[in-house]
Amino acid sequence: MTSYIWHPFTQSKTASTPLRVRSGNGVMLELDDGRQIMDCISSWWVTIHGHGQPKIAAAIYEQAQKLEQVIFADFTHEPAERLAEKLIQFLPDSLQWVFFSDNGSTAVEVAIKMAIQYWKNLGEACRTKLICFEGAYHGDTVGAMAVGERSLFTQAFNDLLFESTFIPFPHTHLNDMDVERKEQEIIATLEALLSGKAHEYAGILIEPLVQGAGGIRICREEFLQKLEKIARKYDLLLIYDEVMTGFGRTGDWFASRKSNTKPDIICLSKGISGGFLPLAVTVCSDKIYSAFYSDDPTKTFYHGHSYTANPIGCAAALASMELLEETASSFKAMESKHKTNLAKLHDHPQLQNLRVCGTIAAMDIVSKENHGYLNAIGPELKKRFLAKGFLLRPLGNVVYLMPPYCISSEQIDQIYACISEVLDSF
Ligand SMILES: *Cc1c(COP(=O)(O)O)cnc(C)c1O
Repeated sequence: MTSYIWHPFTQSKTASTPLRVRSGNGVMLELDDGRQIMDCISSWWVTIHGHGQPKIAAAIYEQAQKLEQVIFADFTHEPAERLAEKLIQFLPDSLQWVFFSDNGSTAVEVAIKMAIQYWKNLGEACRTKLICFEGAYHGDTVGAMAVGERSLFTQAFNDLLFESTFIPFPHTHLNDMDVERKEQEIIATLEALLSGKAHEYAGILIEPLVQGAGGIRICREEFLQKLEKIARKYDLLLIYDEVMTGFGRTGDWFASRKSNTKPDIICLSKGISGGFLPLAVTVCSDKIYSAFYSDDPTKTFYHGHSYTANPIGCAAALASMELLEETASSFKAMESKHKTNLAKLHDHPQLQNLRVCGTIAAMDIVSKENHGYLNAIGPELKKRFLAKGFLLRPLGNVVYLMPPYCISSEQIDQIYACISEVLDSF
């Protein structure tokens, strides 16, 4: 069949023909040729309840019949109001104002612009830089690339990206004896950077607890607590990109809640609608909102998107949050399931840095090649997993699981069995 489609993150010349998916149900995808594939990564980390969730499908149908879309300047609607109220109920109490957009990258763009203009509105126009982390990924739009690690993905655009300051991320793993020293060193680096120069910085931006696309790198809650102290000490905004870690991923509703830290701004997307529709929010504190609240038109936040707060997306998100409330035990219980399986792999000679955070587990495959996204072992692993009926998509030499929360205990065991078998085949 002829295709006119250019796929994301894909080199069309070398890629195999994309698999045509006919339907999805729970953890399983059904292909056109009838094959069943287990979705072990929630389709790029979004379908948190699994595919075809009937309650979300029903909420979408109902909302579409009432109001599909309306301009969100000068107008508002019930799904947006109810969703904002529900989000505030579950977010740290520092966060009070919800700004809507439609994907993770735009949620980050909004956060960056809010942070910079916050200081400008307060008369501190020189606070234009952000402190970011090595290995960070915040999206593919130009602003979001500028606050992420310079990498293969950004290479063609590096000259266009505004300057950010990068510090190391204290990534850790099970039985890591060195983690406190790493954290202390990074905190010391940060203090040295800030003493006398804090007035150049608008804030600190981090993927809290887990860096996603950078290789599923996990840090401790204690590090976030130390980081929060520094942000307060030097009067910097603390910005959390919870686009991936939100909505149960880390074993709690949000990484901020799990670590008991209070960011000034948070970005959410991916799991927000249960994976049904594109939606995102950037939620900020009253301190930030107040700096824009003025009779002076130049203090307005001039930002918006055509589909801002799409009512059907909001209805899907509300249904997804209600489901999360009902099934919270499943995302809370998954970590111990991962741990049991990881313990069995602990002495495997081809594995190192086994790690887990809530529903997410990851491991590095020992390989002679350089570690990184282009490590040739990634595509080969992907092919062998798929041949066994599992959708796993290694990031270079990093194999990770990020399953929908509806997955059964037996199905999790099956994924680990598949990983073991594939490793043995090398
Ligand atoms: C995926 C991701 C983004 C970008 O989200 P998109 O919806 O793909 O634009 C931003 N930040 C983090 C942490 C992500 O995992």
